Amino acid sequence: MFIEYDIFSQRADALRARIASACATAGRNPAEVTLLPVTKTHPAAAADYAARYGFAAVGENRVQEAAEKRPLAPATLRWELIGHLQSNKARLAVTHFARIQSVDSEKLLLVLDRAAGELGKKLPVLLQINAGNDPAKFGVDPADAPRLLESALALPHLQVDGLMTIAPLSDDPTVARRTFANLRTIRDQLVTHTGATLRELSMGMTGDLEAAVLEGSTLVRIGTALYGPR
Ligand SMILES: *Cc1c(COP(=O)(O)O)cnc(C)c1O
Repeated sequence: MFIEYDIFSQRADALRARIASACATAGRNPAEVTLLPVTKTHPAAAADYAARYGFAAVGENRVQEAAEKRPLAPATLRWELIGHLQSNKARLAVTHFARIQSVDSEKLLLVLDRAAGELGKKLPVLLQINAGNDPAKFGVDPADAPRLLESALALPHLQVDGLMTIAPLSDDPTVARRTFANLRTIRDQLVTHTGATLRELSMGMTGDLEAAVLEGSTLVRIGTALYGPR
């Protein structure tokens, strides 16, 4: 059985307190850090709970799953794709997602731009960077980030909001922190070289959100701490 709304609501309150406390340590304003509930593998009620609590958006990692749940949730809720996207699903993804955080190849940029153009949209995206140099993770190599950004900035139907990364799984908490610091450095260098804004740094999950906030995260993607184990 899925959790009751009251449990969700208490967990969301507790998470916001965790974020606020990390912000206090970092000398940051908690309003700079958005909490994105990750509803993947959970029933459609998970998205309903998020909307009822007042979250504006939820994250899903598969196009098909989001396409099935989205009609069951309030129409005002925005959906963001945080999982790997194959080019052949790009068009479906553009119809369902308000933003795609997992763009990691030139080929994907081109198909997303074309689909967004055909659907009369300007699609917000984040570029996923493998900032932890983890062979098990998707995301473009940091060395290839400048070229990917240049390509993205040249496309008329995409809007690059920033960067996203997933830290390598590790027992050593300094690994996540270094990964997040690396993403911020990459962002700062890209901003210097291109003049792009790149406001968003999507980094931090249930296990490493404090490290992410300390390193400048503007968007933490949280599943387990809100909905329980998958
Ligand atoms: C599942 C997932 C999350 C949420 O992870 P939790 O550890 O459950 O908070 C965040 N980001 C991505 C890309 C995910 O796939």
